[in-house]
Amino acid sequence: MLQADMNAGLYIHIPFCVKKCPYCDFYSITDGELRSAFVDALITEMRMTRDPNLTFDTLYMGGGTPSVLDGKTIGKIIESARQSYEILPQAEITLEINPGTVTLKQFEEYRYSGVNRINIGVQSFEPENLQFLGRIHSGRDAHAAITWAQEAGFENLGLDLIYGIPNQTKTSWLRDLKLAIESEPRHLSCYILSFEPGTPFYRDLQEDILKPLAEPQVCEMFETTLEFLSDNGYVQYEISNFARAIMNSSGLKSAERNRSRHNMKYWNFAPYVGLGPSAHSFLETKRYWNCADVEKYIQDLNAGTLPRAGEERISMDQLMIEAIYLGLRQTKGILIDIFDKKFGVNFNEMFEEIISRLEARGLIVISQDRCTLTSRGMLYLDSIAAMFI
Ligand code: SF4
Repeated sequence: MLQADMNAGLYIHIPFCVKKCPYCDFYSITDGELRSAFVDALITEMRMTRDPNLTFDTLYMGGGTPSVLDGKTIGKIIESARQSYEILPQAEITLEINPGTVTLKQFEEYRYSGVNRINIGVQSFEPENLQFLGRIHSGRDAHAAITWAQEAGFENLGLDLIYGIPNQTKTSWLRDLKLAIESEPRHLSCYILSFEPGTPFYRDLQEDILKPLAEPQVCEMFETTLEFLSDNGYVQYEISNFARAIMNSSGLKSAERNRSRHNMKYWNFAPYVGLGPSAHSFLETKRYWNCADVEKYIQDLNAGTLPRAGEERISMDQLMIEAIYLGLRQTKGILIDIFDKKFGVNFNEMFEEIISRLEARGLIVISQDRCTLTSRGMLYLDSIAAMFI
């Protein structure tokens, strides 16, 4: 499908956190003084970037910690976005929540302000994991946030979890998974802890202060995740993402409706516009991004300049590489006919040798119309994608 025929996604980066977590490489600051100036600058950015050619069916407020902002401010942001952009009435409007920053009243206000999907960064319910991850919330706070979101009327609820944490066991990970599905969230993201350059955890790893969990244990936890969630009615649609299967209008069970519509835009080459410091946008064959600095972001917009930090044109070769990587990370895989038409190649011939090597090792499966990773292959996504490239 051409980008012009697809609805776009709007991402808003709220760059404030109560405290920095040592594993996180997202841009945010802990000083909240600039919050109100930031919101004003954000609204200016919306006005300056309005594009009548785009129609949006998702709006995602992430960060940072968007839930440091109260319901009234979130309402103002949504309202201003609707004034600047064409956002469809049935759009998915998601707010990321840190359980250490919310109350029942806040959830009620978020709902009133137009948010219809909540994603809670639970990460774990286990005290030692939360402490290790430097989180500001307890397992009890996570339970309370889930209960309050549901009491406030949010039916579309997603939870984020992290595993592969040093000293974590399969038993304790299963405890987290069991607690997570008790509230029947529609969506679960289960991420393996990664050590990103520039973070305190990365530094500790380099200096041998931190010992990561051994790879076989992480692999076992990944397999446990797939098995446990599948047994409990969750369908994997991307390496780390699972949607709950529910009965559709034809009486069939399907998980499609519960996927994160917004995140799927990133994996399917849909257009998206990112606002706020460090946010990235992707339109046609161009990608551009904002500066990762709140002060400069505000100064630029107050001076009538867009706070761009860079842009790149994406060549056909680059698009092909991304299509392989993004296709392989989804359970639907690379759709071979579409790939061949889009890039004017023959996928099966072009990668014949690599495909047979990976098939022989049980890492990929080629069916009539698609190339998908096996669950074991998913663990080696990066190196497999590199082989194709
Ligand atoms: S993980 Fe979330 S709460 Fe922690 S620093 Fe990153 S954005 Fe902030």
